[in-house]
Amino acid sequence: MSTQMNEPVPRPGILDIAAYVPGKEHAPGVARVYKLSSNETPLGPSPKAIEAFRNAAGQLERYPDGQAVELREAIAATYGLNAANILCGNGSDELLGLLCHTYLGAGDEAIITEHGFLVYRIQTLAAGATPVTVKEKDAHVDVDAILAAVTPKTKMVFIANPGNPTGTYVPVTDIRRLQASLPGHVMLVLDAAYAEYVKRNDYEAGIELVSNSRNVVMTRTFSKVHGLAALRIGWIYAPAAIIDAMNRIRGPFNMNAPAIAAGAAAIRDQAFMAGAVAYNGEWIDKLTAAFEGLGLKVTPSVTNFVLIHFPDIDGKRAAEADEFLTRRGFILRAVRAYGFPNSLRMSVGPEEANIGVIEALREFLA
Ligand SMILES: *Cc1c(COP(=O)(O)O)cnc(C)c1O
Repeated sequence: MSTQMNEPVPRPGILDIAAYVPGKEHAPGVARVYKLSSNETPLGPSPKAIEAFRNAAGQLERYPDGQAVELREAIAATYGLNAANILCGNGSDELLGLLCHTYLGAGDEAIITEHGFLVYRIQTLAAGATPVTVKEKDAHVDVDAILAAVTPKTKMVFIANPGNPTGTYVPVTDIRRLQASLPGHVMLVLDAAYAEYVKRNDYEAGIELVSNSRNVVMTRTFSKVHGLAALRIGWIYAPAAIIDAMNRIRGPFNMNAPAIAAGAAAIRDQAFMAGAVAYNGEWIDKLTAAFEGLGLKVTPSVTNFVLIHFPDIDGKRAAEADEFLTRRGFILRAVRAYGFPNSLRMSVGPEEANIGVIEALREFLA
């Protein structure tokens, strides 16, 4: 009959998924390009992490430790956790996918928020389940809207805290209230990819809540403040039963040896991390003030990026600003796919790039 019968066909729904599109990297014809589109750190990783990575090059013929013990123990020591409740993955992306494939199936619903990270939607669909999108309130996650969307089919709730691309956060009292109101079989996934950058008394990444409940997990990454995005290192802190279930379906060697070594060295170098956080805090404040000084609206950010909103005026919209900046070598992130058609997200970059973007936008808006 149809030719489709003569070739392998993906499961229903897979071809309806729009593949994740990473931040742009290139500005054709521009000599010096600053990539400010993927929230990578401008400072690179700790020199100790680079050294550990180089040392690992001498043993590439050997399989890595399938339990990533060195890395799990280094993380556990840093945060005072039990290493048995930590699982490492090839980026937190892998762990989010594993969670979906372990806990979701056809007929299940996963709640994601209006401006939530696109990976949640992709992995929910990939598991055959249905994403249910809940409105946010002025780029802030709305816990009451999430609770109102819970149905008997709900199995999972995803919150990026802080959010990307919003840069806003949910206070710990609201997270606790959400957890207390969710049925026990619904998993609350706290994606705390930017937790290290947050300096607010009413923020918690989720460690305490995971420790004291059975349905909360927290994911973290080495891709942002630790500067190891290329190595793909993420971790999840979760109750033992959830770690056990995920361990059954993960790849036996999902972490590579150079990543294990470099990650452990990076997290032990807390002084380097503190320097990266300080640099970032200084520039988040300066960038926010500068863009607001140009008359742009900026969503207040506790992360390493700012969400800049453009006027709804011909020639001054986000798409035009994006083009203008790209021609000058500044690559920001268009966030239309995240529900912000007239905004750009800018990662804190090296000083000359931060200053360059401010000056370029001044010219653009003039
Ligand atoms: C960058 C980011 C991550 C990190 O993903 P990795 O796979 O660990 O690189 C996770 N969640 C959000 C919201 C992010 O922005």
